[in-house]
Amino acid sequence: MDERIQVWVGDITTLKVDAIVNAANRQLAGGGGVDGAIHRAAGVDDLQAACRQIGGCATGQAVLTPGFRLPARAIIHTVGPIWQGGQQGEPEQLRSCYSEVMTLAVREGFRCIAFPAISCGVYGYPKEQAVSIAVEEVERCLETYLMFKKVIFACFDQDMARLYQAALGRGQAT
Ligand code: ADP
Repeated sequence: MDERIQVWVGDITTLKVDAIVNAANRQLAGGGGVDGAIHRAAGVDDLQAACRQIGGCATGQAVLTPGFRLPARAIIHTVGPIWQGGQQGEPEQLRSCYSEVMTLAVREGFRCIAFPAISCGVYGYPKEQAVSIAVEEVERCLETYLMFKKVIFACFDQDMARLYQAALGRGQAT
């Protein structure tokens, strides 16, 4: 069990970390869910302009923008897979989201980042399976990236937090 992993319940946009992760879409166009919340908190105009300049992001990849008005310095946008039954490469794509974000974070010198539950909302990925991939992949990356101080799994509700705690082999949300 890696003590650098924390499970936290609340709004990810309030976290003062080096970077928060956005569950974006391929157009980086903003939308509902956590993406919408991040756009509103960062400042829609600034973030949309930055995203437009990047142009887009493939599923399973990650790109970086400033955090603008967020307490977090930066936003790492990654595009999770849309669940289509699990036979269309969704697990590999979701795994790739976590590893690409971690790699980008290391490259930028970030020590503390926070993930939402990528693909677990509108994109319909079965939550337990998504959480198990998230935990596995982050734990695997942390073994290599010793410079990380903290990785937070930010959950919107307690039910989600319980799934992370279970996947981490822990009892209670912290
Ligand atoms: P996706 O399109 O990748 O499924 P969603 O934004 O629909 O992304 O949902 C991803 C997860 O983020 C869901 O578990 C949802 O409850 C959660 N979520 C939504 N808003 C926030 C927020 N402000 N902070 C943290 N988590 C959030």
